Amino acid sequence: MSSRISVPPFLRQLRGDPLGLGRAAQSSRSARLEPRTRTADRVVQSVCPYCAVGCGQKVYVKDEKVVQIEGDPDSPISRGRLCPKGSASEAYVNSPMREHRVRYRRPHGTEWEELDLETAMDMIADRFLETRARTWEDADEDGRPLNRTLGVAVLGGATLDTEENYLLKKIFTAAGAVSIENQARI
Ligand code: SF4
Repeated sequence: MSSRISVPPFLRQLRGDPLGLGRAAQSSRSARLEPRTRTADRVVQSVCPYCAVGCGQKVYVKDEKVVQIEGDPDSPISRGRLCPKGSASEAYVNSPMREHRVRYRRPHGTEWEELDLETAMDMIADRFLETRARTWEDADEDGRPLNRTLGVAVLGGATLDTEENYLLKKIFTAAGAVSIENQARI
């Protein structure tokens, strides 16, 4: 056991850390660790992708790989802070559980299938167009114009930024959808 641990905490505080918030409270293992922020090749300023708060992040890169993500003190929005999700976003990049493929489970299917992105996008577009055409309403029973579909609804997520939400609202309103909502309001 190292000398750091064998010295009683109170004495360690007296040795220059009276509040016990720094070295006095540090384990010998922690003292040996080197932060990934210190060994990075470069730091890139970015914005947390999780929610519309848009907290500033510093992305630490080593050998062209993201090795750590920290709060950015220069951000006027978050001033260096990140919530637990934002603090864990390094795993968002590097987790071995991250899904890189499109997975599809067809109606009544019991297994996931893999699709290429182009096929998946075409399937979504085809279904959207077919549903819109099938459920389109020109007018109500008194002949008053409706020009809408109740067969399509949109639910935006809080990871969408202002510009994406603007485009979603604009595109789906133009397509005749009236049920347009965002997760942040629910
Ligand atoms: S998820 Fe957390 S860290 Fe990321 S932008 Fe939202 S509040 Fe900020």
